[in-house]
Amino acid sequence: MDMKSLGDKILNGDRRTLARAITLVESARADHRAQAAQLLDHLRGAGRQAVRIGLSGTPGVGKSTFIEAFGMMLIEQGLRVAVLAVDPSSTRSGGSILGDKTRMERLSREKSAFIRPSPSQTHLGGVARRSREAVALCEAAGFDVVLIETVGVGQSETVVAEMSDLFVLLLAPAGGDELQGVKRGIMEIADLILVNKADGDLKPTAMRTCSDYSGALRLLRKRPQDPKGFPKALMVSAYTGDGLDEAWAEMQALVDWRRETGHWDRRRAEQALYWFRQEVRQALLARLDTPQARAAMAALSDRVASGALSPAGAATEMLEKHLGG
Ligand code: GDP
Repeated sequence: MDMKSLGDKILNGDRRTLARAITLVESARADHRAQAAQLLDHLRGAGRQAVRIGLSGTPGVGKSTFIEAFGMMLIEQGLRVAVLAVDPSSTRSGGSILGDKTRMERLSREKSAFIRPSPSQTHLGGVARRSREAVALCEAAGFDVVLIETVGVGQSETVVAEMSDLFVLLLAPAGGDELQGVKRGIMEIADLILVNKADGDLKPTAMRTCSDYSGALRLLRKRPQDPKGFPKALMVSAYTGDGLDEAWAEMQALVDWRRETGHWDRRRAEQALYWFRQEVRQALLARLDTPQARAAMAALSDRVASGALSPAGAATEMLEKHLGG
């Protein structure tokens, strides 16, 4: 396969080629990895930048419904929208529930939309790399907005935030006066909290939830990458469409401000460095994941446990033997 012509087709926005290229970056085969690297190199610096929006929320908050409604609204404004999913749990649950086309029926029929479910992978590292490369491919293919969906189960939010320009947390209205057990770490990476289902009987609860979160956000440490008033909480209804245009207006305001102040470029540069370090770390760990290395590790572990070797001495021995060359 000629990577240059594949790349040129992607730059022309060909969706079938894009889908093929994503399959290529998702492959773990060494020859595919080499081709993928070539392709990404060819596409790098093509000059197009999408707005990458990370979107997280626990199952049932309305992610699919929101993406469908929000995506349709963007398309009606003439924008092209890609939806990718990062789901580290997909192998465990026996199938992906994110980025599922049957749950975004209208959007999946649109020519200006591209939806890709999460690859099934056992570890987050593999999913992260592939998703990041898929984002780069969608960007090269000229999508204006890339939505990266993840489920609120902890670590995956950090991974998604590291490949997004904005991070949106979707919540459902909740009774009681406690915040819905949203971890502080997730609150700290959110740029926008959207309280979904602000319609019908749920509206009063949504209003209260929204004001609780507005209060909680005000208590967080001020971040340099935020203009006045951010991060903020808003109400939306994926059913009625209420609040979706306002949410998009807020996202655009944030994007514009960050572009003007240099925070946008800085964040992308920091993300590139983050991923560089991750790649180095993973490559090193992979070298320690051979049968010989695992056997040596087990043997050294026994000696450390029995007190025959110090932890540091054993580590030095391990690394000298198995990371060399
Ligand atoms: P996901 O698991 O986060 O992708 O959530 P879904 O999009 O599948 O939605 C979960 C449930 O919430 C479904 O029964 C939806 O019909 C419902 N739902 C989603 N958005 C809204 C909304 O804006 N208002 C109301 N009332 N229900 C909604």
